[in-house]
Amino acid sequence: MNIVSIGAHQDDIELNCLGTLVKYRNQGGHTITNVVISNGDKGGQFDPTIPYEQVARTREAEATAVARGLGGRYLCMGQSDEYIRDTDEARNWLVDVLREARADLVFAPAPVDYNTDHMVTSQIAFHAVLLSAVKTIFTTHAPLDKAPVMYYMDATAGLEWQPTHYVDITDVFEAKCDLLRLHKSQMANMQTSGGWDLVKYAHVVGAFRGIQCSVEYAEGFKPTLAWPRVRPGNYLP
Ligand SMILES: [Zn+2]
Repeated sequence: MNIVSIGAHQDDIELNCLGTLVKYRNQGGHTITNVVISNGDKGGQFDPTIPYEQVARTREAEATAVARGLGGRYLCMGQSDEYIRDTDEARNWLVDVLREARADLVFAPAPVDYNTDHMVTSQIAFHAVLLSAVKTIFTTHAPLDKAPVMYYMDATAGLEWQPTHYVDITDVFEAKCDLLRLHKSQMANMQTSGGWDLVKYAHVVGAFRGIQCSVEYAEGFKPTLAWPRVRPGNYLP
């Protein structure tokens, strides 16, 4: 499968579905594309004197390193962090990414979350998945034959969101933590803004979703039940 994961910020995909992506990588035969809508330039709360451009460059390097670790690639739309907007241009940019990747499966942020960047990204992704197969929407690459299947990832800290599908990531949990540590700036940023770092978050939320499905660590998902994004069967590893 061609798998496209979409996040608002450079660590969103990693927090919510990195273990699942490691499992796809280990299966082999898939392509992995991580797409981030914002440039992440407000993610330097541990030192607000760092210029936005420098924060954005650091986060691009970190997200690229994680994508390489997955055997995949990282693409960024480059919208201003904390000010993501659903525009015609944003929709068409993402539509073309899905077409170029020949996407079969899309992971998108939960529609309800603590940050409107996440919610707007969820909305852009939801609509881009539909438009990717619409033949009267013209972008650089040809329309897909069918809209990809779409699953929502977990919401931050699991609040206001209940997954219906779970992936057991126990066997790849250490690999997930190793890749999360590549987000060195965000390990510090979340410590400053939330009092936790990405690895601690992975332990707490992974164990929380794990206990719900009787494994040590899990990631939770919910397939989008909207035509034409639904297919028979289970696409999760
Ligand atoms: Zn985020």
